[in-house]
Amino acid sequence: MRLRIEVRGVVQGVGFRPTVYRLALAQRLTGCVWNHARGVTIEAQGSPAALDAFLRALGEDVPRPARVTHLTSCTIPEQFAAAGFQILASDAGGDIRPVVPPDLAVCPACAEEMDTPGGPRYRYPFTNCTYCGPRYSIIARLPYDRPHTAMQAFPLCPGCAREYGDPLDRRFHAQPIACPACGPHLLLLGPDGATLGLGEGALQGAVTALKAGQVLALKGLGGYQLLVDATSPGAVGLLRKRKQREGKPFAVMFPDLASLQVACEVNEEEQGWLTSPEAPILLLRRRPGTAVVEEAAPGNPRLGAFLPYTPLHRLLLGVVDRPLICTSGNLSEEPMAFEDAEALERLKNLADVFLSHNRPILRPVDDSVLRVDGDGPTVLRRARGFAPLAVALAGLAEAPTVLALGAHQKATVALLQRGDLIMSQHLGDLTSLEGADLLARTVADLLAFFGARPDRLVCDLHPDYASTRLAERLAADWNLPLLRVQHHHAHGAACAAEHGLSQPVTALTWDGTGLGTDGTLWGGEALAIDGGSFRRLGHLKPFPLPGGEVAVREPRRSACGLLWATQGPGDPPPGLAAAFEGADWNLLQSMLAKGLRCPLTSSMGRLFDAVAALVGLQARHGFEGQAAMALEFAAGDRVLPAYTWEQKDGVADPGPLLEQVLGDLAGGRTAAHIAARFHASLAELALAWVELSGLPDVVLSGGCFQNALLTERVSAKLKGAGFRVHRHRTFPPNDGCISLGQAVIAAVHPFHRSMTGD
Ligand SMILES: [Zn+2]
Ligand SMILES: [Zn+2]
Repeated sequence: MRLRIEVRGVVQGVGFRPTVYRLALAQRLTGCVWNHARGVTIEAQGSPAALDAFLRALGEDVPRPARVTHLTSCTIPEQFAAAGFQILASDAGGDIRPVVPPDLAVCPACAEEMDTPGGPRYRYPFTNCTYCGPRYSIIARLPYDRPHTAMQAFPLCPGCAREYGDPLDRRFHAQPIACPACGPHLLLLGPDGATLGLGEGALQGAVTALKAGQVLALKGLGGYQLLVDATSPGAVGLLRKRKQREGKPFAVMFPDLASLQVACEVNEEEQGWLTSPEAPILLLRRRPGTAVVEEAAPGNPRLGAFLPYTPLHRLLLGVVDRPLICTSGNLSEEPMAFEDAEALERLKNLADVFLSHNRPILRPVDDSVLRVDGDGPTVLRRARGFAPLAVALAGLAEAPTVLALGAHQKATVALLQRGDLIMSQHLGDLTSLEGADLLARTVADLLAFFGARPDRLVCDLHPDYASTRLAERLAADWNLPLLRVQHHHAHGAACAAEHGLSQPVTALTWDGTGLGTDGTLWGGEALAIDGGSFRRLGHLKPFPLPGGEVAVREPRRSACGLLWATQGPGDPPPGLAAAFEGADWNLLQSMLAKGLRCPLTSSMGRLFDAVAALVGLQARHGFEGQAAMALEFAAGDRVLPAYTWEQKDGVADPGPLLEQVLGDLAGGRTAAHIAARFHASLAELALAWVELSGLPDVVLSGGCFQNALLTERVSAKLKGAGFRVHRHRTFPPNDGCISLGQAVIAAVHPFHRSMTGD
């Protein structure tokens, strides 16, 4: 009996065909397997029982990172010409759908090999195989073969060549395969570029520096990272000072799962993610009184924790034998350094010593960040391990090819092609020249990899985003139509697309700020979204934001603007007065009086800032979202009555809410009490707004939904009232999802009617 089996899912570039080969040999089947545009096809011939076992194994025994989502089979005529089972060359004809595999954490088999004394890869920091190792960060162009990667300068030794060519070996066609005889090696450099050590000596030198409290720049998988001893307050303080990063949490890498579990609570789902091929940073609940210094994540009940994901991290953490702060190698606001000369230049004042190697990194790929909340993951940063895997979007297979340029912060770009959404890795902030340059390079990469020629471009409504300017330039160069999409429309559409919702939905888009269609800064809206169009159902009553964007880092400005709008001019309330020195308050009041640089905003993020500043949690100097996080953490799990809202025609006035907050403050209530009531009020507001449309499906998007407490309270309230609530799972709720929403909206936009001069 002979079967033709069609397999779909993550089946290319992940060692799937060798697995098929092994499973076929195990059942003594003959036939062949090949890759093509839509996935993998297998022809297998043997006894019905053997074929049955083979099919079962395909469904169940495929090692990660491969994932079978669809498997169909039909009987075809038997063939007797060719014996054995063969892996055929990829079918180059027809509708090829290229796959660029993501970078994957060191697998258990490679880890064991590194730990085996006397073995050919004992303590070798570049060990990898078909199931693990660098991919996206080292691929120059497709097809994904060694000469097209950063490994092209390392000819295979006979031992590696044998493994590479043996279909029964786990390194069969592993493009980055290497060993000490033929592969890359370590070197230790001073900040002046002088070589201080090689190989094992370089590793030991790095360990000595870390133990002495110095800052180590490590050339990791997708870029340079800065590492210090996470148990040393002096070392952590030094890193904060040099990196100009005051309160923002650092991630901590632990030598192994056992040491991680000493510092953080880990449930089964979280453990699964920590040890997965994606190996993201996980935001875990911190245990009190552990060796990790408080300064790693000041005032934060959670800690970003992860495990060594490259052989080099594994070796280093194994020797240093303590948790290390492990953060991107950059100054605040700049992208991560990844090219050797550039890294040395940019990081020479930040790091004391560089642990480097001679395998080039071809593009920066940051660590992914994820949190597990009750019923599933929330991706906060989508990069290593995930990007640039395609995600199939329902109903868009026939749509035009769209290039979406995304937002300005937490930037990503996305390509929609034949119904597949391919999103870039997280690119960070585009404010710096380096950031804008990285955006342009990433666009060029995506188009080249996927052989895409966009039919249309899409960007944000905001004219000053670096992404908007690039979109305008590309649209002019290529003579393509460009659509400008309102920021929160894109947010809502992204979440709807992620869940395959094509029917109208209510979107609660609670965010920092994004330019609205009326020229004000939106961010606290309820939108009724119907594919490419939307209607503003509800929003916060706009209040002035003295200084505009500056207010993002100064929550006291939001408080000042909100007080002005709701209570008129006057002195700061007692709790807030301390946040203003000298003439600061009067200066803001006079800006407000003259309407000077005081854009109006309906931003929920700025309302969070205002309340946090009023209760004295966070008034000045911070990173975006810090005040909102402080409110979330202060609220804890207290359940208290909501403040009441006044609203008319969907416009919710924060004035009365503010008065109740001030009343609670005057009555001696704690910040924790007020924070809990504030969160409860937002759940009430959510319900009031979604009832305006009556649509059964509600999507939650925007930076505010990074707040686990808010998301949980809003979801529970809406579900309790019978609504179906959908939140981001695969893509981030923050601006990282904007390119997805833009792509979907542009795909259904009737361009022929409105494109000119758009
Ligand atoms: Zn491996
Ligand atoms: Zn070798």
